[in-house]
Amino acid sequence: MSRGLLLVISGPSGAGKGTVCDAYKKNCENHIWNSVSMTTRAPRAGEVEGESYYFVSREEFKAMIENDEFLEYAEVYGNYYGTPRAEVEKKLSEGTDVILEIDIQGALNVQENTTEGIFIFILPPSMNELRNRIIGRGSETPESLLTRFKSAYNEINYVNKYNYAITNHTVEQAYQDLICIVRAEKCRVTRVSNEILTLKEEKL
Ligand code: 5GP
Repeated sequence: MSRGLLLVISGPSGAGKGTVCDAYKKNCENHIWNSVSMTTRAPRAGEVEGESYYFVSREEFKAMIENDEFLEYAEVYGNYYGTPRAEVEKKLSEGTDVILEIDIQGALNVQENTTEGIFIFILPPSMNELRNRIIGRGSETPESLLTRFKSAYNEINYVNKYNYAITNHTVEQAYQDLICIVRAEKCRVTRVSNEILTLKEEKL
């Protein structure tokens, strides 16, 4: 059985990475595991503990950093966010694909900490559209809106650290692009090396 793929997905706030990932997960339920991050930020309306995030205190988060329990973590907009390492490793070794929706600092940490990972950046169709999407969420204060806009401009400079970029014109198109990337990655010669070996050993 081959190891699962580690899909690392980033993009500026409002680019729609959550929506694209949700569409993907919904259609590949048995083949993908969504890592649930830990955060010190307060839950938003409708967010569910253990599904959206594990919500913890700064003290609890720092204790986990000390114990090296994160695959990666980062401080984003004044709060900590991190990916607990153990479950990700378990799923990958069982052959299940894992999806991480994380910020750029976190993705760069994964690049440093592991030799695996397919790094995918979700781009908005335009900055104007991105702005409208963030405002439309209605969950930000004017200050945090401004922080997120400024970050979005800065973050787009990091796209060349990623393997793939998907422009989110529509959720359907962006999610189809993601499916194509995963299919292509599964056909890499290095990933089918066991099958190739079996073919070579087959007696006629
Ligand atoms: P939000 O507060 O909007 O849920 O997330 C803010 C940012 O933190 C987003 O860019 C999101 O992708 C990122 N994020 C969520 N979970 C993690 C994580 O486990 N690690 C890192 N590095 N970033 C995360």
